[in-house]
Amino acid sequence: MSETIISVKNLKKNYGDFEAVKGISFDVKNGEIFGLLGPNGAGKSTTLEIIETLRQKTSGEVFVNGFNLDDSPNEIKKIIGVQLQTSGYYPSLTLTELIQLFAGLYNEVIDPNTLLDSVNLRDKAKAKYKELSGGQKQRFSIATTLINKPKIIFLDEPTTGLDPQARRNLWELIKSIRDAGTTVIITTHYMDEAEVLCDRVAIIDSGKIIALNSPDKLIDELVDTGFERPKEVKKANLEDVFINLTGHVLRED
Ligand code: ADP
Ligand code: MG
Repeated sequence: MSETIISVKNLKKNYGDFEAVKGISFDVKNGEIFGLLGPNGAGKSTTLEIIETLRQKTSGEVFVNGFNLDDSPNEIKKIIGVQLQTSGYYPSLTLTELIQLFAGLYNEVIDPNTLLDSVNLRDKAKAKYKELSGGQKQRFSIATTLINKPKIIFLDEPTTGLDPQARRNLWELIKSIRDAGTTVIITTHYMDEAEVLCDRVAIIDSGKIIALNSPDKLIDELVDTGFERPKEVKKANLEDVFINLTGHVLRED
């Protein structure tokens, strides 16, 4: 669990004169869910895409499973799973056909039904991608990251726009992927999500890492400064009310 699988050292990315990533360093441990948190424009997607070999860095070093990004991008590609932008799916193919297509691209032999089972979409095997609900689309797109049996998967805002039940359902899926031994790097705007899901988080702002620790430790550090929430915390919040009223079951089918 403590072995390092990704090491980023003094990573910088400029777009023209603009410094989007300003020399960040962090390690991701094998088998953890690592969160990159930060406001829009902080540099999260840029950082992920550089590690994914999809974007050129300006300077710095990146190692993935011991492979130097500068020397061995193809070795890195083989051991990572990346979510495609949704526009990357042929909308008129069935889920089974899409899996077969991706498996062919990766040169992998895979049973589509087994993969669909792992994301609870077996009953949608004959459905087209465009017919899926938002939560189902996300589950399918996570399934496609697993086709090449990667050591690491990258999820960039996988729960944005989902309803509370679908979001919770995705948390369970992501945890089960971690529990099966895959390292997960995720970005999210939802702090409740990062708190329950991530083993450690880096908070990034204007291209710099301003905090890095487990959610629990970061909260303790803030409390140690004397911070208190301004108002009395109730034992439930509006999301609890919503979940309680509408039930935990997924509504998308
Ligand atoms: P995040 O994912 O944290 O929202 P991004 O990595 O997408 O942030 O973007 C970081 C900054 O870099 C933003 O200010 C964004 O506008 C800028 N940026 C991202 N991609 C490009 C690009 N291809 N060309 C110019 N600027 C870009
Ligand atoms: Mg982004």
